[in-house]
Amino acid sequence: MDRVTMVPQVVLMGPGPSLVHPATLRALAAPTLGHLDPRFLAIMDETVNRLREVFETTNRLTLPVSGTGTAGMETSLANVLEPGDRVVVVVAGYFGQRMVEMARRLGAEVDVVEVEWGRAADVEAVAAALRKGRAPKAVALVHAETSTGVLQPLREIAAQAHEVGALVVVDAVTSLGGVPVAVDATGIDVCYSGSQKCLSCPPGLAPVTVSPRALEAMERRRHEVYSWYLDLRLVARYWGQERFYHHTAPVNMIYALHQALGLVLEEGLAARFERHRQVSRALWAGLEAMGLRLAVEEPSLRIPSLTTVWVPEGVEDAPIRQALLHEHGIEIGGGLGSWKGRVWRIGTMGESARMRYVIQLLGALGALLRRAGVRVDVDAALAAAMSVGQPAT
Ligand SMILES: *Cc1c(COP(=O)(O)O)cnc(C)c1O
Repeated sequence: MDRVTMVPQVVLMGPGPSLVHPATLRALAAPTLGHLDPRFLAIMDETVNRLREVFETTNRLTLPVSGTGTAGMETSLANVLEPGDRVVVVVAGYFGQRMVEMARRLGAEVDVVEVEWGRAADVEAVAAALRKGRAPKAVALVHAETSTGVLQPLREIAAQAHEVGALVVVDAVTSLGGVPVAVDATGIDVCYSGSQKCLSCPPGLAPVTVSPRALEAMERRRHEVYSWYLDLRLVARYWGQERFYHHTAPVNMIYALHQALGLVLEEGLAARFERHRQVSRALWAGLEAMGLRLAVEEPSLRIPSLTTVWVPEGVEDAPIRQALLHEHGIEIGGGLGSWKGRVWRIGTMGESARMRYVIQLLGALGALLRRAGVRVDVDAALAAAMSVGQPAT
């Protein structure tokens, strides 16, 4: 048996990876070109142009870093921060904590603004942290905290940071392509994402964009970036006009990203954001009608691409997820950190944000919960989900 060719189609509704469009999978299978072949260079240029459109930026320094979302995080922090720099990190969940860990290893003085899991950051508290002590080089935050399902007040925090001249570093891994990020309009200086969430490309690339202001700060660095591989000024020499060899680009992954971004732009950002909103509202209505409780009570704080729902009293988390996967071919995620075993994380990202998958999941989850002895109303769940207006696609 060949393990790879025998893998089944799974409905990916976890916190990533999301479903990949067949056209993107076909792009991945196109013949590999040399990483300096002019035909490949043209594809690189087009990919960067598409990235700029999706980030909604005119930033010259925009490129996909070779690595997953975490490589985007490390690239962003390592190029912005130098040993001794003060950085304010908003920690509202697991991924914010990962930023703290990285900033600490970079030798930065890390000031943490702790936010209770499931809540949005208090902008006043962030403003106060930015104004106390030495001037911070940057504020770093996760826009859509995938561990809690809360969308953080990005615009408000960015505005506060600009008042004190701090650079704004934003994790848009779970939001880019599904929820408005609008790098330039929001005033983000460094933004990174991952290919496998709302962009619906396989995992392996981390789009990054850097504002002229952040680029200037990078040019004034006193210390070299600790990582040679992630040093943006070196990587940019390959992606820019020089085409200077730095490392072999993951050629076929870039084909896939090129195609996935093409699909995002063909749909249009506004239509795509609306689809994520509609599909998540249907999911929320369905889960609540079934009798489950969403972990983020305030609807305006919920992430349209990632929903957290409490595991009902007396139900074991893992067996339900295993049955969903093995009996129904649907993947959802479990909780992270202090929410491990307590929540399910349901992704409606990119290609996975479709009504048909929400209906499929509600039916399967309802049936499994009923089998586990929980009284749930599956009919009400399906009716509630379907009563939320269907998007065109
Ligand atoms: C998934 C995720 C990451 C990490 O991305 P990887 O591709 O797993 O390295 C970082 N931040 C957030 C908010 C995420 O959801």
